[in-house]
Amino acid sequence: MKIGAHVSVASGVEKAIERQEDVGGNCGQIFAGSPRTWTVAEYDEDEADGFRQAREEAGQGPYAIHSTYLVNLATPKDDLHEKSINCLQKELDAADALGVEYVVFHPGAHTGSGVENGLERIAEAVDALEIPDGVTLLFENTAGKGTTLGKEFSQLREMFERPETPEDDLGVCVDTCHAHAAGYDLTDGFDDMVEELDADLGIENVEVLHLNDSKDPLGSEKDNHEHIGEGEIGDEGFRNVVNADEFDRLPMVLETPTSDGKSYKENIEKIRSLVS
Ligand SMILES: [Zn+2]
Ligand SMILES: [Zn+2]
Repeated sequence: MKIGAHVSVASGVEKAIERQEDVGGNCGQIFAGSPRTWTVAEYDEDEADGFRQAREEAGQGPYAIHSTYLVNLATPKDDLHEKSINCLQKELDAADALGVEYVVFHPGAHTGSGVENGLERIAEAVDALEIPDGVTLLFENTAGKGTTLGKEFSQLREMFERPETPEDDLGVCVDTCHAHAAGYDLTDGFDDMVEELDADLGIENVEVLHLNDSKDPLGSEKDNHEHIGEGEIGDEGFRNVVNADEFDRLPMVLETPTSDGKSYKENIEKIRSLVS
């Protein structure tokens, strides 16, 4: 089973591997810089080699870089659009340097310009990117608050079908907390959810799962992550996810809270305990 956590790169990107080992993960996710700024790290050869080597020794993979939260490819504003494209390009280049397989990003919000406009802006932006060989760009499903795009699986499909960019370079990351917030039931309605996912998006286009429980009720459109089993998705929902044949090839990455005393380690153990 491929299970890991989003780990810090503080004091050197190769430190992420050690942190991952400490929590018992064998795949994972990092930020290439600070998620709340436009600064993206440019890794020199030494840093990149350090990461690659540590990762190989630890036998971890695959990895994803999570894009900064400022990126908005759906925006009608030209300056923000361009900034977002440049930022995402740097993150793709960072992934290339580090040998990281995926870059995951939130598609953005149309901020009143309309869904059609937003989708067109995203397609334009994706086509402006140069996606390096060996790196796949993943649209993440969202909780759907406000004018945020990517709440429905069908809309995510449009996002990777609309650009000219080959579909092999694009895919989807499904976050359990966001799906729950968007109204997809992972407990009683799990089988229906999987069916909908396959019909509207295509299971084969899902490449990474983010495993997060949710503090809020089904369909709330709120994005507040909770420890596995302690939220509204609960043991039942995660038991469904980790035992589903449709998902067993996928890397699962935790983004559970880290500031309240409970660690990734306990959440990874929890996930493993739900596998039957
Ligand atoms: Zn995310
Ligand atoms: Zn979230």
